[in-house]
Amino acid sequence: SSGVPSKGITILGATGSIGVSTLDVISRHPDRYHVIALTANIQTDVLFEQCRQFKPKYAVMVDEACADVLCARLKEYGSDTVVLSGAAALERVSALDETDYVMAAIVGAAGLLPSLAAANAGKRVLLANKEALVMSGKLFMDAVKKNGAELLPIDSEHNAIFQSMPVNGKTGVKKILLTGSGGPFRSRAIDTLSAVTPEEAVAHPNWSMGQKISVDSATMMNKGLEVIEACWLFDVPASDVQVVVHPQSTIHSMVSYVDGSVIAQMGNPDMRTPIAYSLAWPDRIDSGVADLDFFDVAQLDFEKPNFSRFPCLKFAYDAHETGGYASIALNAANEVAVASFLSKQINFTEIPQLIEFALERARSGTPLVLDEILVQDRDSREHARLWIKNNKK
Ligand code: NAD
Ligand code: MG
Repeated sequence: SSGVPSKGITILGATGSIGVSTLDVISRHPDRYHVIALTANIQTDVLFEQCRQFKPKYAVMVDEACADVLCARLKEYGSDTVVLSGAAALERVSALDETDYVMAAIVGAAGLLPSLAAANAGKRVLLANKEALVMSGKLFMDAVKKNGAELLPIDSEHNAIFQSMPVNGKTGVKKILLTGSGGPFRSRAIDTLSAVTPEEAVAHPNWSMGQKISVDSATMMNKGLEVIEACWLFDVPASDVQVVVHPQSTIHSMVSYVDGSVIAQMGNPDMRTPIAYSLAWPDRIDSGVADLDFFDVAQLDFEKPNFSRFPCLKFAYDAHETGGYASIALNAANEVAVASFLSKQINFTEIPQLIEFALERARSGTPLVLDEILVQDRDSREHARLWIKNNKK
C-alpha cells in the first residue's frame, strides 16, 4: 500500500481514448484511486464493461435512451451503480463531495460546462479537454483560482511544460517551446492536400487518439489550440510560445531560460505518462509506459512550422491576439469543419476556409460571462454551417 488515502475519481468522457488510458493507469493502483463516476455520450457497451470492472457509484450517459439500456443491463447484472442521464448530470458528478479528482476528457465544447463545474467545486482538475480552456480561458483560470482548484494539464505538451517549469512562479523563464509532430501531412505535396481522405487524416504517425483531435493534428489546428491553451495555463503571451515541429514526438515540449538552459521532458508517445503524473503529482507512479529507448529513437529532428501549409496554426495565434470571442469562433468553426470533413461534406483544404469565414464574423473583445461565451459558440457554428450551405450545392 502507498500509505496515501485513496482518492475518488470522476472521469468525464470515460469511453474515449483518454478515458480508457486513465482507467488503465487507475487499474494499476487500486489502493490509491477509486472510481466515483464514469460518463459517456452514447457508447453503452464500453461504459457497461467499465462499470462492471470499476464499480463506480454513478454512471452518466448523456443520451437518455442509452442511459435506459445501460440501467437495465446493470440491474440485470446485479450492479449498484446509479445511472443518470442528460448533460446536467455531467456537472453534478464533477462536483460530488466524494470526488477528489476530475479527469476532464470530453472532446470539444460539450466538455466546457462539466469541466468548469469541477473547477468551481475546487477539485483537482486533470484537463485533457483543451477546447474548454480555449473557449473560456480567463473565466476558467479565474474559477480555478477563486475556488482553490488544482489545474493539472493532461495534454502531453502542457504536461511536459509543467514538468519543465520552475517549481514556483516563472523566474528566469524566457520562452515555451511547444513541440508537435506535424501530423500525417507534414511533407505531403501541398497541391494534393485537397484530395486527402478522412482515413488518411486520422492516421497519426505517432499517437493513437480520438477522431477529432487526429484531424486537428493533420491541420495543425491541434497545435494552434495548444498555443492558446499554453497562454492561459502558464500566463504568457502567444509571442512567447514557439511551435517547434519535431516528427519523432520524443520531446513532448521544452522551456528555455534566460541563462541559455533548455529543459525538455521526453518519453514514449503514450498518454498514460501525463495521466499518471497528474494523478500522483507531486509523486510519481508507474504508468505502464515502456522505458524510452534512445538507441531505438536514434535521431531527433526539428523544423520551423509552415504557416502556408498549415493556415489553421496561424489563425490560432491571431485569434488569441484578437480576443476571447475570436478564440471561441475558431474553436466552434473548427468543430463544425472537422465533423463535416469526417462526413465527407467538405474537403480537407476547406477546413481553414470555413474557419476564416467564421473568424471574420466573430465579435471583437473578450466575453466576461459564460452566457456570452455560449452565444458566440452558437453563432459561430451557424456561420460555419452557412459557409457550407453557400459553398455546396
Ligand atoms: P474521444 O473521441 O476518444 O472520446 C471522447 C469522449 O467524450 C467519449 O467518452 C465520449 O463519449 C465523450 N463525448 C463525446 N461527445 C460528448 C458530448 N456531446 N457530451 C458528453 N460526452 C461526450 O476523444 P479523446 O481523443 O479521448 O479526446 C478527449 C479530449 O482530450 C479532447 O479534448 C482532446 O483534444 C484531448 N486530448 C486527447 C489526447 C489523446 O491522446 N487522445 C491527447 C491530448 C489531448
Ligand atoms: Mg497535445
